[in-house]
Amino acid sequence: MDEVPDDSRLTFTMSINEGVVKSEFAAKEEPSNILLAVLMRPLVTAESPIACGRVWRLLKDAVDMNAEIAANIDDALVRAEAGQIPVEFNGRRITQQEIYEVLASGEFFTEKAEEARTLRALRFGPMADFIWMHFYSYCVDMYGIAEAILTATPPFASRDEAVVPDPRCIYCLQDAGAFTSEEHVIPEAFGNDDAVLPVGYVCDVCNNNVLAELDEYLANFEAISLQRVINVPYTKKGKLPRAEFGNAIVEKRMPRLLRIIDRNQGDPFQIYDTQPDGFCRFNLHLRSRKPFESKMLGRALCKIGLGMIAFHVGRDRACSSRYSVTRSFIRGEGVLDNNLILLTKTGEPHTQVAFTWFDQEGGTPCVADFYGVLMFFNLEEEPKLVLDPNDPLAQDFTSFNLGASVPTST
Ligand SMILES: [Zn+2]
Repeated sequence: MDEVPDDSRLTFTMSINEGVVKSEFAAKEEPSNILLAVLMRPLVTAESPIACGRVWRLLKDAVDMNAEIAANIDDALVRAEAGQIPVEFNGRRITQQEIYEVLASGEFFTEKAEEARTLRALRFGPMADFIWMHFYSYCVDMYGIAEAILTATPPFASRDEAVVPDPRCIYCLQDAGAFTSEEHVIPEAFGNDDAVLPVGYVCDVCNNNVLAELDEYLANFEAISLQRVINVPYTKKGKLPRAEFGNAIVEKRMPRLLRIIDRNQGDPFQIYDTQPDGFCRFNLHLRSRKPFESKMLGRALCKIGLGMIAFHVGRDRACSSRYSVTRSFIRGEGVLDNNLILLTKTGEPHTQVAFTWFDQEGGTPCVADFYGVLMFFNLEEEPKLVLDPNDPLAQDFTSFNLGASVPTST
């Protein structure tokens, strides 16, 4: 909860001049408001198992608490749901909670047909901005309520720091020093929360000095970074994806709103065909920012590979001497005398990230598929991965040696 900004003030102005109503809600693209809306989503959507209202109903009878505070939370929930300013639509009073859900499901997070239709009907005159005001007000109100529930329920108010049993780092084998964070095997920037190693598997030194840089390199690797910004709505921490190119920055402003910032008046975005229904076709020209570093990419991928072994088989296997060379390669202290094979011809783009490794006696081959960009490598030095020059498919791939001091291609 401490990720939420505490300055989420909302102001809405409306003026009537010669019969024309003007309204303004300037904060709808305010990053702190957007972050609040993203982080509050699992606590406010009715389907969520941790929705505030649901959690409160379960807790208030089960936990011994001050009756006055409990009554205040009950009142606050009723007020947040209704909203402070009454809104009528088609002769029926609609609540702030309903307005929130219409915007959340009709546009902000997803585009459900019925909510999108209601949203279009609701957007007339000053209501267009008023909807945004209600949307964020609901998030602010519910944030206050969530905080009050946490404070009022003693079992949740003070959690003991978890003791890490038997820590050992899979990347440097250290078992002393600080181990304070869990580790996302596939970087968090890809919105992937499925494979997470518990606290005690990766030391803070590796995490901060090595892995963070590798994760960042992969997230910004230009062959996949645009796809990442398009396909990742937001991370669990509420971060919206962003990618930097030589001539432009592409960033997500809201979970479904992209902004392209031109860095040097080169006009990277050009519309060449606009349809009557408002859809258009466009070209987006993005130039690379820095030279490709095959070793950095190889290290970032091996970091995922070793993490996957720890996640699927266990830490002992990842810590085995079989991966000593891999470990020093990942840390940037040695080489891995093998090849990284990369699909360099345009593949079939898709919206998923997948990582597969093969558990076999000789070698640990891995395949990473990031939105259709395929990368093959081996976590071990033997057997060597080589492209067969007689295979016509090989022409679509390029091989980079991870043992050489200068990246070479064959
Ligand atoms: Zn370590």
